[in-house]
Amino acid sequence: MTDRLDSLAAELRDADSVVALTGAGISVPSGIPPFRGDGGIWGDQFDPAAFHISRFERDPAGFWTDRLELHDAMRPSGIEPNIAHDALATLEREGVLDAVVTQNTDGLHAEAGTQRLVELHGSAERVVCRRCGEQETAGPVRERVRDGETPPHCDCGGVWKPDVVLFGEQLGRETLADARELAEESDAFLAIGSSLQVEPAASLPRTAARDGTLAVVNLDKTGSDGVADYVFRADVTELLPRLLERVVD
Ligand SMILES: [Zn+2]
Repeated sequence: MTDRLDSLAAELRDADSVVALTGAGISVPSGIPPFRGDGGIWGDQFDPAAFHISRFERDPAGFWTDRLELHDAMRPSGIEPNIAHDALATLEREGVLDAVVTQNTDGLHAEAGTQRLVELHGSAERVVCRRCGEQETAGPVRERVRDGETPPHCDCGGVWKPDVVLFGEQLGRETLADARELAEESDAFLAIGSSLQVEPAASLPRTAARDGTLAVVNLDKTGSDGVADYVFRADVTELLPRLLERVVD
């Protein structure tokens, strides 16, 4: 593995544009439970129908009560970015990494200090007003829900909605366009902690691999292993720091 890591590190140093795509696998080591599979949030613990956009529209008070419960399950106290999030933030600061595209809504990349961040499914750490479009930090709004304000309202009278793509909602058109452009223009693309089976995460690495280097880092098989130049079956918190020390002197 060391030879392959050295070789990938050399490619990253030479590349004009490096982009990373991350999925749930980068946040699991921080203590955030996976969405699906054993012990997953959806199915085992929560019913996706309760978090559908139609539920939010029909019953925003009930939605927010359930949403708070979901938040407490997803974010037990003390959750922090891990060394894999930190490694990506460092790679950006060092001028190696151009952007992080993430499937995650946990806000941990932003917390780790990543600046250019494309959040495909939004961020649970923000809320957006359904009427005026204003955005706010989610924490204080969640506290108001905890204190009985269900649903929570913006100053304009509109209802706050978590700034995430709910079931039944489309991904943001501009967000998607940004992610595609980054993938197309990248010389090297790192797909990290994602099974790469759900769109758009399934097609972004394939787009990048057409005329760039694709490296996949994931514990399990992914949908893009066949088109990747490098496949590392590894824990992201072990591999990314090792990659970082080879890229940055
Ligand atoms: Zn408003």
